[in-house]
Amino acid sequence: MASYVFVTGGVVSGLGKGLTTASLGRVLESKGFSVTAVKIDPYINVDAGTLRPTEHGEVWVTEDGGETDQDLGHYERFLDVTISKEHNITTGQVYREVIEKERRGEFLGKTVEVIPHIPDEIKRRIKNVANRTKADFVLVEIGGVVGDYQNILFLEAARQIKFDGENTVFVHVGFLPVLRHLGEMKSKPLQHSVRALMQTGIIPDFIVCRSEYPVDGVRKEKIAMFCNVRENDIISNPDVENVYELPLIFEEQKFGEKVLQKLNLKPAGTDMKKWKELVSRMKNAQTVINVGIVGKYFDIGDYRLSDSYISVIEAVKHASAWHDVKPEIVWIDSKKFEKNPEKLAELAKLSGIIVPGGFGSTGIEGKIAAIKYARENNIPFFGLCYGLQLAVIEFARNVCSLEGANSTEINPDTEYPVIDILPEQVKIIEGKNYGATMRLGGQKVVVKQNTVAGNLYGKDYVVERFRHRYEISPKYIGILEKNGFVMSGSTPDKRIKQIGELPKLKFFLGAQFHPEFTSRLTAPNPLFSGFIKACAGK
Ligand code: GLN
Repeated sequence: MASYVFVTGGVVSGLGKGLTTASLGRVLESKGFSVTAVKIDPYINVDAGTLRPTEHGEVWVTEDGGETDQDLGHYERFLDVTISKEHNITTGQVYREVIEKERRGEFLGKTVEVIPHIPDEIKRRIKNVANRTKADFVLVEIGGVVGDYQNILFLEAARQIKFDGENTVFVHVGFLPVLRHLGEMKSKPLQHSVRALMQTGIIPDFIVCRSEYPVDGVRKEKIAMFCNVRENDIISNPDVENVYELPLIFEEQKFGEKVLQKLNLKPAGTDMKKWKELVSRMKNAQTVINVGIVGKYFDIGDYRLSDSYISVIEAVKHASAWHDVKPEIVWIDSKKFEKNPEKLAELAKLSGIIVPGGFGSTGIEGKIAAIKYARENNIPFFGLCYGLQLAVIEFARNVCSLEGANSTEINPDTEYPVIDILPEQVKIIEGKNYGATMRLGGQKVVVKQNTVAGNLYGKDYVVERFRHRYEISPKYIGILEKNGFVMSGSTPDKRIKQIGELPKLKFFLGAQFHPEFTSRLTAPNPLFSGFIKACAGK
């Protein structure tokens, strides 16, 4: 029988509930239990596919083609498991299901009401995950903050799951700000969020204290008294330089053992050796590499949001750990190259450049200019999805002399549509049917041997995750190849080209898929590994 661990959060979003959930999962896994995780998002969107990255962070693509919340990425990376799209539950999905059931007459003349039907559907979905995965632990992270109107029905479902007699533990992640002018850590916001949680009928078993610094004994005592949680069950979760340290910090505090004790479960030892070793390699790496990410989804107001590219950053970190280098990410907004082309010279000091995925035309010419600079100056370049497509456009324009070559996504009337819509996408776009209709999820990539990609993968075929509507137009492959662009990966029927490279350069490779989604600390993606190796000048 599965045990459920519900993780709630207080006061502010972005506290790191996802990393807390993933890290606790890793600790439990290291003690011999199978673990999976679920993310609840209280928004009405059915999935994250239609959300702008600057609004909600990256869209994580699951193996089975879901467009989901980025926290599923943390779960996969920390737990080393493949997680299905059913592990991201949204208000939109829940209401849609209940309304559709009502229309099908499945409620047999009853009044369909928010209570009990909505929590019932939430419970059904959570328990489905337990039944399907047969995991020992299902960790359920409830998005948003307690006290919101939005997630109240999810909290109610969690309360009921415990009441139903399931093995259940509640973990509340609270915020303890350190006020600069006082130099003091304040626990009142945490006390208030625990009170809001208790109003829903949930008493936390553990409190995780998110703060700049570790929480001290004086505060633990106070929190214990006012929040009704034993001091021993208050876990410190301070800011860390490296998020992969968090499972180790939890392990030091015996968080895993304590959760098991509450459920009368016994650990079968602890195996954190490999993880520890990789974290210490990350910490001890001396050689710094500067990896430029030429993106366009950063700016919200005066602040920058690196969450739009979180998996790219993590994949860079994984590969860097294995090559014993310390990556410094340099954020570059491609739009600046459009206004000030002389700024391209700044790229010269980088060890390598990544052009990540994206949609639409803003910032595109700036990205193309950056790719041209990388190619002409032999700076390692790695293109992810749109990054490959833009490398093809640059090559077509400047090497194959196809002046004005473009993607029909940007210019439908271009004379040379080197990137064109996938034939099966034409009708979908005409019908303005945007939700979950791209070419999505894990697909086979046949890798050509004796190419850069072939040598890195060391396999004839791999499965990588896709999310796109456009492709390298089959009509232009001949001319691209004749000029030296090597197509080193394709679909098994050879129709869609999925990897392209310029083998004469130090590293110049693009993938139609998103290799960042299959990268793990314990098993970096081979293409990222090749790129980082080139950045390190190895
Ligand atoms: N916009 C491009 C397409 O739809 C690339 C998508 C991406 O980078 N994920 O094909």
